[in-house]
Amino acid sequence: MRSKSEFLAAVPSNYPVWEYYVDRFRLYSSSAAARGLVARGKMSTVEHIEVFGDKRELSFCAFCAGEITTRDHCPSRVLLDEPYPNHLPQVPACQPCNEGFSLDEEYFACLLACVLAGSTDPKSVRREKVRRILERKPSLAARLDAACVREGDSVAFSVEDARIQNVVTKLAQGHSLYELHEHCLGTPNLIMIQPLLTMTDAERERFEAPTPSSLWPEIGSRAMHRLVVSGEDVHDWIIVQPDTYRYLAEAGEYKTIRIVIQEYLACRIEW
Ligand SMILES: [Zn+2]
Repeated sequence: MRSKSEFLAAVPSNYPVWEYYVDRFRLYSSSAAARGLVARGKMSTVEHIEVFGDKRELSFCAFCAGEITTRDHCPSRVLLDEPYPNHLPQVPACQPCNEGFSLDEEYFACLLACVLAGSTDPKSVRREKVRRILERKPSLAARLDAACVREGDSVAFSVEDARIQNVVTKLAQGHSLYELHEHCLGTPNLIMIQPLLTMTDAERERFEAPTPSSLWPEIGSRAMHRLVVSGEDVHDWIIVQPDTYRYLAEAGEYKTIRIVIQEYLACRIEW
């Protein structure tokens, strides 16, 4: 196996290497709390909101605009733990999309759990669901183990970038249709994926703060409903499951979706 420095030297500089240092993370956990680095902005929980906007938006698959045959949970349940929250968002989907992402989503969930555990041993993984997947799928466990670079106390993982981007894009497409009532088709203009702990305080501040917008979301969308109810001009972060999954969907000049998974991985996707 290559050493961490060889591995880092071999990857292009724009390649999103996720690093996780066991000691650094522990240090960061305590100092982050001391600096008050907790999520900013107002938070809402998932709730049932009836949409009454243009129903045509909801007559096509959220991910490819194909013919609808089913509905897909967004976020996918592999990213959440049981018991699931009530009113888990669902979006219309076609069968190929509904089935086509599941292996990548499983890989993504397992990778994240292993990164957070600093290990590919199922016994060290915190999420029970991921433990079960790793035990049921030794080939996936072996693949993650091969991507893990250990050097002394530090652990780094090389990631399968295309699969990660695939999952993150799909999540954002689902959130956009569910919240903003707008399709985001094709490749996003921007995909940023970065562990929260690697952000500077200023970057974190920018990432957490909703952007006030003069453009209102579509009438009848959930985002519009939330703005009316809150009486404010910024969107809230929506907590799907505390400490596990939250997102913020904004309609402005661009449609921007921000996601935080496991309070570790920050994603920003824009169309
Ligand atoms: Zn589709």
